[in-house]
Amino acid sequence: MIRNRAQINGIVQGIGFRPFVFNLAKKWKLCGFIRNNSLGVELEVEGDQEAVENFFRELESNPLPLAHIFSIRRETLPPNHYTNFEILASEAYHSKYTFIPPDISICDDCRRELFDPADRRYRYPFINCTNCGPRYTIIKDVPYDRAKTSMVVFEMCPECSREYGDPQDRRFHAQPNACPECGPTVELFDADQRKIIVEDAIAETTRLLRKGAIVAVKGLGGFHLAVDAENDDAVNRLRQKKFREEKPFALMAAEIEKIRKFAHVSENDQRELSSPRRPIVLLPKKFPNKIANSVAPKNHFFGVMLPYTPLHYLLLESEFLALVMTSGNMTDEPIVIDNSEAFRRLGKIADYFLIHNRDIYLRCDDSIVRTIDKKITLIRRARGFAPEPILLTHKFPQILACGAELKNTICLTKENQAIVSQHIGDLKNEESYQFFLKTIDHLKKLFNISPEIIVHDLHPEYLSTKYALEQNPEKRFAVQHHFAHILSCAAENEIEGAFLGLSFDGTGYGTDGRIWGGEFLLADGADFSRLAHLEYLAMPGGDMAVKEPWRMALSGLYETFNDEFSDLPLKVLLKIPGEKQSIILQMIKKKINSQETSSLGRLFDLVASLLDICQLATYEGQPAIMLEQHAPEKVDDLKIYDYEFHRENGIHIIKSTLLIRQIVKDLSAGLKIEIIAGKFHRTLIEMFTDLTLKLANETEVKKIVLSGGVFQNLKLLTGIMKKLSANGLEVFFHQKVPTNDGGISLGQAEFARRMVEN
Ligand code: ZN
Ligand code: ZN
Ligand code: FE
Repeated sequence: MIRNRAQINGIVQGIGFRPFVFNLAKKWKLCGFIRNNSLGVELEVEGDQEAVENFFRELESNPLPLAHIFSIRRETLPPNHYTNFEILASEAYHSKYTFIPPDISICDDCRRELFDPADRRYRYPFINCTNCGPRYTIIKDVPYDRAKTSMVVFEMCPECSREYGDPQDRRFHAQPNACPECGPTVELFDADQRKIIVEDAIAETTRLLRKGAIVAVKGLGGFHLAVDAENDDAVNRLRQKKFREEKPFALMAAEIEKIRKFAHVSENDQRELSSPRRPIVLLPKKFPNKIANSVAPKNHFFGVMLPYTPLHYLLLESEFLALVMTSGNMTDEPIVIDNSEAFRRLGKIADYFLIHNRDIYLRCDDSIVRTIDKKITLIRRARGFAPEPILLTHKFPQILACGAELKNTICLTKENQAIVSQHIGDLKNEESYQFFLKTIDHLKKLFNISPEIIVHDLHPEYLSTKYALEQNPEKRFAVQHHFAHILSCAAENEIEGAFLGLSFDGTGYGTDGRIWGGEFLLADGADFSRLAHLEYLAMPGGDMAVKEPWRMALSGLYETFNDEFSDLPLKVLLKIPGEKQSIILQMIKKKINSQETSSLGRLFDLVASLLDICQLATYEGQPAIMLEQHAPEKVDDLKIYDYEFHRENGIHIIKSTLLIRQIVKDLSAGLKIEIIAGKFHRTLIEMFTDLTLKLANETEVKKIVLSGGVFQNLKLLTGIMKKLSANGLEVFFHQKVPTNDGGISLGQAEFARRMVEN
């Protein structure tokens, strides 16, 4: 017989870790105990030596999906002759080291009870247990106790209290524990805030949705706007009311089998869809399908998620192939969380409101992921992920990184953890800015962090920069946008020493005051040098050139052909009115409001416009997304355009104009735009690989880091990764934070760490 004691540090509280260990101990016939303490849990097991080894092996290899074990410290003690295995009450503690779990989808046990007529929580929309339910979005303060959550207003009935107090029960210390007797309830209202009196508000909602109504549904991290995804009229009506032109709407379907009716689901997609984080997963559309065309027009993908609250399961139980479940907001505003706010802000959009009285304390959008083989990339990191710390090898001082302007997130660090906030959004929107302030305050409180260092983007006009400049930390740093991008990737991959970064992006403020975005940077410590970049092109009208890609096309054509381009037989020149063209041309020639940019994102826009694939970006990145989708699946056997780098002051300049010239030639010759789109992708892959190899040789640096929004393009990403690896370079990409500006805050924090370490 052997007795082991173990201290397990990490995110192991509030996610059903103790019942899991209890069952594991039973399985291996071990006695002892487990209890929460200030660092995680401590446990003792006693029994047959082999069984103890098996117990720990299983504990280490197969923890719960949301357990995040930082360390297990194990010691052997003399036998104590325990007679059973017990879950003991927690040690009393008020520690700064407890970890706040993210919100978790309903677990299988609760789902079974939800649909079990004999269960006392049969069809109760707020059923939860220690393995599942709301966490981050209802917590106001630490320690994580019911009194510090928005559940405080509901007094538990005797039966719920019994469960809550029983260490053997699945609801032991489940802070949001509730039942129909004592917990939150749902109610249905019309747009005039009149309550609809019905026996079953959810069944009535289903009926209304079936008839084509738009219903605002209060969820976990905010409101959704729901419509029947098969009803084209209803989906179009939602688009008009929400002022959302073509950006795809997310779908929710009851089960994987239903999703397979309209989208291709790989094994990896299935794993992500079913994970307790329940993100939206981007899936290739299946044709034909019954989903309304207006759900994701001009796009080859659907964003789909499975239900994650009991309320969702009840809504989707039988009726729908899928529901559109898009964020409850007007385009560009943050998602609505509050009931009265919902009537105010969504009153003109929704016909009905399915609300409840469990307050959402902190907003949290749905996360969006895409699988690449067995790995995932995050497009939006929010519900289910935040505020789980990202573990780092280096010890960090307490830093606040303020993030970028669009797709803002913030990052706080302490010791070897980086806490990256949920997606906050576009700070130019006032409500988003308020959300930014609240999130900073809230995370500082929850994780007990008082930043001594604040770090921000180099862009003087970012609101996150302005915020940083108003604070009075001990130290304050500014970091170049594209350097922060590659540092975020370096941080999550724990890269030591010098590396080459390919930072491919939409826009970011450069050290020369121009707009960067197609950068090859050599990073070393807190310094970088710019080794290569795309040729500068004028961006007439600044942000308007992002919205209207044809402006970039004119800029590229003028740079390539001077005034002679006007005779070219190009659709873009026929489509855009002559007066408009001449105004923009004057701006380019006279350099009026036409900053220069080396952005690869803008080059994609330019080509999308030349090919007449997209002349108006109705959402961020649309031209590039459509260009990628037009290219054939395989581009390997297409011809490569000639490319050229020339050296100016020791920096390699990539000649974009040479590419433009050949694309125009192909267009004039009547080559299919799909083939041109494919050739463009193939050329970028070959050209960037070639240049990277050259730079790797010159610098003798073999580690290559890829980051920036353009790497959301999977053709480009996988093409470059494959080629570089095949040439013996070590290539790193993101898995923990988005490659877009949502990951910037982590890179900024990494920069600050490097600055103080120097
Ligand atoms: Zn549960
Ligand atoms: Zn109860
Ligand atoms: Fe960026």
